Amino acid sequence: METKIYDVIVIGAGPAGLTAALYTSRALLDTLVIEGLSTVSQILITEEVENFPGFLNITGTEISEKLKEQAVNYGSEIISDDVIKIEEDICCNNSCWRVVTHKGSYKGCTIILASGASPRYLNVPGEKDFIGRGVSYCAMCDGAFFKDKEIIVVGGGNTAVEESVFLTKFVKKVTVVHRRNEFRATKLLQKRLFANKKIEVLWDSELRDIYGDKRVQGVKIENIKTNKMTNFACNGVFVFIGYIPNVDFIKNKVKLDEGNYIITDTQMRTSAEGIFACGDCRNTNLRQIVTACGDGAIAAASAHDYIKGKMEE
Ligand code: NAP
Repeated sequence: METKIYDVIVIGAGPAGLTAALYTSRALLDTLVIEGLSTVSQILITEEVENFPGFLNITGTEISEKLKEQAVNYGSEIISDDVIKIEEDICCNNSCWRVVTHKGSYKGCTIILASGASPRYLNVPGEKDFIGRGVSYCAMCDGAFFKDKEIIVVGGGNTAVEESVFLTKFVKKVTVVHRRNEFRATKLLQKRLFANKKIEVLWDSELRDIYGDKRVQGVKIENIKTNKMTNFACNGVFVFIGYIPNVDFIKNKVKLDEGNYIITDTQMRTSAEGIFACGDCRNTNLRQIVTACGDGAIAAASAHDYIKGKMEE
């Protein structure tokens, strides 16, 4: 049976992927979006979004649902599956790409990679053992389980600082453990954290061990200036130390930077012909919902130009 050939296959259904799909479908390109099953878009674990232009306050889920509705409304097809690999193929005597998933394979003239990034692990003893039993990477998903408890947050970026404040809605106390003596987070978020009486910060400190019985009961924290190790009783540990791009399925096809982010030019073109990348999986120095959407629109326009160029050849 002849496989359908899509003009564009978008891998990932976060803000970047869905905006790309919206733009390609509006350009009347046959578009398939493959939403990952084993990875969760960061937007779905973001409670409040205050910096998406035009909205004073909106939830991540609301933005995601609206973007999906809009892309589908203009004709995008969305399926849920994990991509295993991408291979070169031939479609109507032209080179194209075949996307292999667990359930099947799909041919596309162009590919837009929008696979996002997943939370980085601390890699300390106990971390993996207590995932779901006190160790978490998502405040919105798990915060309510820690009502009136004492928790640790690790990290000093926007996520750690913002989520620490969010977690004070539930918990009795948040202790932020940060490896330096200043946060990387924006000043406005820092101001909110410092004004919150439920939050204490341990500077120049690293978490070395997470221990407990059935659930987390405490952690070992080292002050890296004095090398003093302290046992710290707590009920939970939230780790927010950055992200790792979801690029395993594409590693051998496009060039990556030293952090494994996909290298693109300003038009979102990767090193492989007909493959574009946008959003958190590409090498950019600002990873926001609004920049992901902007990337997605540019990637869509580039895919459109690429297809048009091929037709004119
Ligand atoms: P990030 O900006 O990369 O910050 C990671 C933090 O974790 C840094 O403070 C870093 O310490 C620390 N860290 C990294 N590896 C560590 C390790 N092994 N042990 C201990 N600490 C470690 O990551 P993020 O905060 O998740 O933010 C990711 C992106 O999303 C950023 O571009 C951010 O601006 C964006 N974001 C934006 C918003 C918003 O605008 N409201 C909200 C959330 C996220 P050092 O500082 O010492 O390197």
